[in-house]
Amino acid sequence: MAKVSFREDRCKGCGLCVEVCPKKIVKMATDRINAKGFHPATVTEQDKCIGCAFCATMCPDVVIEVER
Ligand code: SF4
Ligand code: SF4
Repeated sequence: MAKVSFREDRCKGCGLCVEVCPKKIVKMATDRINAKGFHPATVTEQDKCIGCAFCATMCPDVVIEVER
């Protein structure tokens, strides 16, 4: 199963990864704020991830890593 991890403190909250995920499982974590002062992106339903890595490819700040 694919695993997505986020270096949350590097996220600038642009939301590009949210837009690009075909499974719509990338969300902004509205319950917390990172070191830069943004709500960081996160994955809510890890088990639905298909490992396409669109999110990681799209992220301009290299926040996301996808393991397959
Ligand atoms: S790897 Fe693909 S399916 Fe998984 S969270 Fe990223 S964009 Fe979504
Ligand atoms: S694309 Fe990268 S910087 Fe933008 S919200 Fe997603 S993880 Fe954060």
